Amino acid sequence: MALLVKKFGGSSVATPEKILAVAQRVLNEKKPDDKVVIVVSAMGDTTDELISLANAIADPACNNSREMDMLLSTGEQISISLLAMAFTKLGQPAVSLTGYQAGIESNTAYGKGKILRITPRRVISELATGKIVVVAGFQGVTPDGDIITLGRGGSDTSAVALAGALQADVCEIFTDVDGIYSSDPRIVNTAKKMKEITYNEMLEMARLGAGVMQPRSVEMGKHYGVPVHVRSTFTQNIGTIIREEYTVEEKEFIIRGVTHDTNVAKIAVLGVPDRPGVAYTIFSNLAAANIDVDMIVQSVRSTQNNIIDMVFTVAQPDLIEAKKIVEKIGKDMETVGVIVEKNVAKVSVVGAGMLGNPGIAANMFGALAEARINIEAISTSEISISCLIQSSKVKEAVNAIHNRFFSEKHDTVC
Ligand code: ADP
Ligand code: ASP
Ligand code: MG
Repeated sequence: MALLVKKFGGSSVATPEKILAVAQRVLNEKKPDDKVVIVVSAMGDTTDELISLANAIADPACNNSREMDMLLSTGEQISISLLAMAFTKLGQPAVSLTGYQAGIESNTAYGKGKILRITPRRVISELATGKIVVVAGFQGVTPDGDIITLGRGGSDTSAVALAGALQADVCEIFTDVDGIYSSDPRIVNTAKKMKEITYNEMLEMARLGAGVMQPRSVEMGKHYGVPVHVRSTFTQNIGTIIREEYTVEEKEFIIRGVTHDTNVAKIAVLGVPDRPGVAYTIFSNLAAANIDVDMIVQSVRSTQNNIIDMVFTVAQPDLIEAKKIVEKIGKDMETVGVIVEKNVAKVSVVGAGMLGNPGIAANMFGALAEARINIEAISTSEISISCLIQSSKVKEAVNAIHNRFFSEKHDTVC
């Protein structure tokens, strides 16, 4: 007997036919004793459509975050009930549960909730009666009983967290690609499929824009030690396993992937007084508003008037709020002004093997230089290097960097 959690993304359940096909596939693969939990996303582009609907009514100057979550959570409720009906039609008892009913508790950060705890009592009791349990992804409940959503792509996190809480044997993420590639296969047609990747490298790739998995879901997999199998809904192919360590010993991967993120905005605070505590004031206020800051560049001091420029990036949905905050601080500090720019993107290389392998950064910059792409900011972690560029150049940049690291000669992916 196995306990399996299977997550189906929006494109996998986009139409009634696809929902029936998902139910049929699950039943074809289910052994009689298996206990199966399905986590499902909203159908197709439903979440985007709900956002457009809200934008047609809501006043952007008002804080609608609670109502947005109430609205967006309905997308997943449509698909869980329909999928449960599809199982029933095929003769398999099934029950749909909302995040709340499945015991998924989250903090009160509307639109970007973090799962705090899962108490899957109801899931376990329904499984014990022989039902397939279909859980709404992307949603949880706050301590006050409000519905919260877990950020775009949050159904991945619901699935992996549930798999962890239930001590499932594996969490399968069914999607529209047949695994994790060295780069987004929609952008780089020479991208190579991986057999496996470590949690740490996948987390970095996801954090830096590889949208195939929500970063938090990879953290959850690592936390619980649940193997995550990313594979296609539409083929039977084995996909990519995300796990703690590689099992293929001889592989010494240097670079595992090239990612891009266009959901980025740049904020420049100009003419900031160069004195202790300034960076603390800016970034602690952003942190208090739950805004993640990424690349940070501080210019050298202007000798004439002891001022500096502070440039950093945030996710685009945080731009309006972040701008408001820095403008207010800027007034108090008497800075020269705040400039924001949305037409930027981040391209990154990721790989644990870059530790102790000098020259990776130079190679990446060389690829961009050859493609005549200007670098506006650079940031590094132990296992990644990122460059901020103009978003119009992103496809060219990712392909140039990918060619550099994944040509036949340097083929490091299996
Ligand atoms: P779902 O709706 O199933 O959650 P997503 O659209 O969120 O699907 O994720 C799948 C998409 O992720 C793929 O279609 C692909 O374009 C994109 N993607 C980005 N980077 C990668 C990568 N490195 N490997 C595979 N897919 C990637
Ligand atoms: N439906 C949500 C989204 O589009 C969650 C998900 O698909 O994982 O982001
Ligand atoms: Mg997704």
